[in-house]
Amino acid sequence: MRKSITIVGASLAGLRGAEALRRDGFNGPISLIGDEPHAPYDRPPLSKKILAGDWEADRAALTPAERFADLNLDLRLGSRATKLNVDSQTLWVDGEPEAYQGLLIATGARCRTLPGTEGMNGVHTLRSLNDCLAIRTALEAGPRRLVVVGAGFIGAEVAATAVGRGVPTTLIESLAAPLERVVGNMVGEVVAEVHRSNGVDLRCGVGVTAVHGREQIEAVELTDGTIIETDLLVVGIGVLPNTEWLEGSGLTIENGVVCDETCLAAPGVTAAGDVARWLNQRYGELMRVEHWDNAVEQGPYAARRLLVDQPADPFTPVPWFWSDQFDRKIQLAGRPSPDDEVQIVNGSIEEHRFAAFYGSHGKLRAVFGMNRPRQVMQGKNLLAQGASWQEALAVAAAWE
Ligand SMILES: Cc1cc2nc3c(=O)[nH]c(=O)nc-3n(C[C@H](O)[C@H](O)[C@H](O)COP(=O)(O)OP(=O)(O)OC[C@H]3O[C@@H](n4cnc5c(N)ncnc54)[C@H](O)[C@@H]3O)c2cc1C
Repeated sequence: MRKSITIVGASLAGLRGAEALRRDGFNGPISLIGDEPHAPYDRPPLSKKILAGDWEADRAALTPAERFADLNLDLRLGSRATKLNVDSQTLWVDGEPEAYQGLLIATGARCRTLPGTEGMNGVHTLRSLNDCLAIRTALEAGPRRLVVVGAGFIGAEVAATAVGRGVPTTLIESLAAPLERVVGNMVGEVVAEVHRSNGVDLRCGVGVTAVHGREQIEAVELTDGTIIETDLLVVGIGVLPNTEWLEGSGLTIENGVVCDETCLAAPGVTAAGDVARWLNQRYGELMRVEHWDNAVEQGPYAARRLLVDQPADPFTPVPWFWSDQFDRKIQLAGRPSPDDEVQIVNGSIEEHRFAAFYGSHGKLRAVFGMNRPRQVMQGKNLLAQGASWQEALAVAAAWE
């Protein structure tokens, strides 16, 4: 039985893991090591309420200060894990070695950047609270135009929030529609319509070929030759897992920390959240999931995994996330694929309130909802039960 636990990454997966151990009655030392200066905070409000100026930063705290103290954690903020050796069970923090007994890796992900923009004023990515506050300050200064590159969830949310603040905004997406890679073209077109009808200057099917300006961003040039003048650029082109510090550790690193079906990466080492790539037996494949709900579930699972020889069940969630854009709540449960049949099963596309099923080979694969939270949750249950396409349609037929 391990007497102490070390968690690297003081954010959603790491903190929820520590809390689960305490809830279970584990009273040994727990170290929570994070390289940010802030106490653990929630990231979804960074592109929504905090960026909009509706919330101050302290409302994003993951656990109130008084409850935090009860957890009795050795919280080491502003501390970076720099190296790991799983054979000798040694972790280096800010270059200093220390032994660990059980280690949970929860170092999350960081944003990809646009080549040629390094160090340029007015260019931002959004991952941390500091990023959010910097963009918020720039929005408050009244930029001439915000350009957002990438209409994935973060880029689309930033565009929606900025337009809500009255900032003229152009959103650039290289695919034919926002979110298309995840939700497919038909549903992506509805998201496009939501943005356009709310005043976003949405340009799809174009990429950025050049960024103009010396110290300060002045314009972006697109693949169709258009030049868009701007003094504020937010780049939302995806994330990379934070694994560089694990090179040579003895772990397998391939687009994340590779783990077995129980989130175990090596004896005494587990991983959770955006950094973990584990074998999800429900789908029979290694997957890395960059969603809030996954970090909330996997953090506790992977922390508990360190205290047992063999867990009763593997970690087999149905992935699920939400995104708020304008007054629409977008949700997706499951794993759609480009070949899936897509059927609207409730509501209407024209009203921007609908639920859609994705299916193939006689099975329900995913459920999408726009302002349809109840239907998405019921659909998620159907996915967890492995419902067939016909069974799922029969359930949806009874929805009002
Ligand atoms: C702006 C924004 C909005 C989002 N909105 C939604 C949403 O609406 N719905 C949804 O489902 N998901 C959303 N997400 C995704 C969700 O927030 C993430 O999936 C979740 O934060 C992952 O948690 P994590 O603990 O795995 O990683 P992270 O939250 O990334 O935390 C990892 C922590 O580890 C630290 N770290 C990294 N390397 C080291 C090191 N070597 N040593 C010490 N510390 C280190 C990092 O600085 C960070 O603090 C959003 C994300 C962002 C950025």
